[in-house]
Amino acid sequence: MKKVLYPGTFDPVTYGHIDIIKRAVNLFDEVIVTVAVNPTKNQLFSTAERVMMLKESLNNYERVSVDSFDGLVVEHAKQVGATGIIRGLRQISDFEFEFQMALMNRKLAGDITTIFLMPHEKYTYLNSTVIRNLASLHADVSDFVPPNVHEALKKKF
Ligand code: ADP
Repeated sequence: MKKVLYPGTFDPVTYGHIDIIKRAVNLFDEVIVTVAVNPTKNQLFSTAERVMMLKESLNNYERVSVDSFDGLVVEHAKQVGATGIIRGLRQISDFEFEFQMALMNRKLAGDITTIFLMPHEKYTYLNSTVIRNLASLHADVSDFVPPNVHEALKKKF
């Protein structure tokens, strides 16, 4: 039973994240999407809201679950019995940070492997910050986020 963790801020979840989750489900038995409780990042949605939006967006994926964690990703991976950490790579600019983090996580927990997946090209320029900015200016973001997230953004702004 191959279980992997997909950690991130998901503020909010986009079709780019969901593309990565779909690819991970095709490769592994179980995918746990885990929302990082990160007080240093300025977040639009609370942890509970981010978890709820992910759950609503992923409710027809049987082998996907959603939780949250506060602390080290590798510790959370061990706690839930995951042997891999999934990360999305959109472009070269993601690489340096992701490479450093993957090596540090390997140093902390040598038996947990980071796996990088690439989304469809149409999502490579998409991130949650862009979505928050567009939504705050009342732009239509329905091509980039699931309908429940679109509604939640409309309510926020
Ligand atoms: P962001 O604020 O950049 O969306 P997250 O912390 O929510 O960042 O991202 C979690 C993981 O999902 C990271 O590995 C990130 O590279 C990846 N990711 C974010 N957006 C996309 C996308 N559009 N396509 C593929 N992977 C993505």
